[in-house]
Amino acid sequence: MNNDNDKVNPSERRFATKLLHFGAEIDEGTGASSVPIFQASTFHHHDIFNPPQYDYSRSGNPTRQALEDYIALLEGGARGFAFASGMAAISTSFLLLSAGEHVIVTEDVYGGTYRLLTSILERLGIESTFVDMTDFDAVKAALKPNTKAVFMETPSNPTLKITNIAETTAWAKEHGLLTMLDNTFMTPYHQRPIEHGVDIVLHSATKFLGGHSDVLAGLAVTADESLGRRLKQLQNGLGTVLSAQESWLLMRGMKTLQARMEHSERSARRLAEWLSNHKEVSAVFYPGLEGHPGRAIHEKQSVGYGAVVSFDVGSGERAKKMLSKVQIPLVAVSLGAVESILSYPAMMSHAAMPKEVRHARGITDGLVRYSVGLEDIEDLLEDLDQALRA
Ligand SMILES: *Cc1c(COP(=O)(O)O)cnc(C)c1O
Repeated sequence: MNNDNDKVNPSERRFATKLLHFGAEIDEGTGASSVPIFQASTFHHHDIFNPPQYDYSRSGNPTRQALEDYIALLEGGARGFAFASGMAAISTSFLLLSAGEHVIVTEDVYGGTYRLLTSILERLGIESTFVDMTDFDAVKAALKPNTKAVFMETPSNPTLKITNIAETTAWAKEHGLLTMLDNTFMTPYHQRPIEHGVDIVLHSATKFLGGHSDVLAGLAVTADESLGRRLKQLQNGLGTVLSAQESWLLMRGMKTLQARMEHSERSARRLAEWLSNHKEVSAVFYPGLEGHPGRAIHEKQSVGYGAVVSFDVGSGERAKKMLSKVQIPLVAVSLGAVESILSYPAMMSHAAMPKEVRHARGITDGLVRYSVGLEDIEDLLEDLDQALRA
């Protein structure tokens, strides 16, 4: 250990090192090798004239703070925030908007975000327009006098369409719009949207960041301090915070993010190629494939293609048959775990979407989404092959 004066700032290290050495990884008081879990709701005022840094756990908790600083470091932002779920992070951030304001949203956005916008925020007077963001002219055409924000999800869910982040944020800035981006599928290992001009990055940390299908959490990172102060007021006011226990569990999972993503992405590339040549599969969606229309843009803004591959088996009947025959993956809602997860958007994540809307967005009855875990890829392919042939 160096003395403090020549200590290198964690932000100057490379990503894999930041994951392990983020500043709070050793407890200062005891030297403990992990962040202590401060299981306390309130904090004693030793000196009533000098309030303590932490006074009540909804407003601030040292374990949660360590996680919030950790994600801010990884995304390269000013301030991080931890929430009880991805939807808590997303809904809290949307409340930066007020009644009468309008937001432009990626068309095939996560089903829960769609439900939030169309059934809750609309009732509160926050309007939204869904557009295919692969078409920049469509984004520009959606601008209204009351537009205040743009919400992106790239790659989108589950058809993995690509939005040009830098082009969109540059245009949004010209019009004074706030930009938000759901980075759940990529994680800061593959894609750091703040570097491309985004104001707020959002995560369902339930997925790749936690990585073990055992914690529900959401994260947000603001590019600057003033936006951070506004989001802090909402997080505290709404009380949508993550508990100390869950904050610790999430940090434990995040330490292996790069190792997990590297393995899963390598397997996902292999799976996507293999599916492209499979007779029982009519279409494959993966930004790493040669023919993917958004590939060149994706490569400019991300350093990898991620671990989620969607594909179409032709019909709802065939999809259900295949899902009943696979033996290795979990057949479930969710993604981004050590174990592979196969999900059926039409009946799971996008069930809230009216059928016509769903079909118009390319989420057909034959579409399934494969989130590749850490199993041996040969076993995954053999298993999927027998299920597809059944
Ligand atoms: C799962 C998910 C969410 C919602 O997160 P929760 O933790 O389930 O609340 C939001 N966006 C994307 C892309 C997701 O996959």
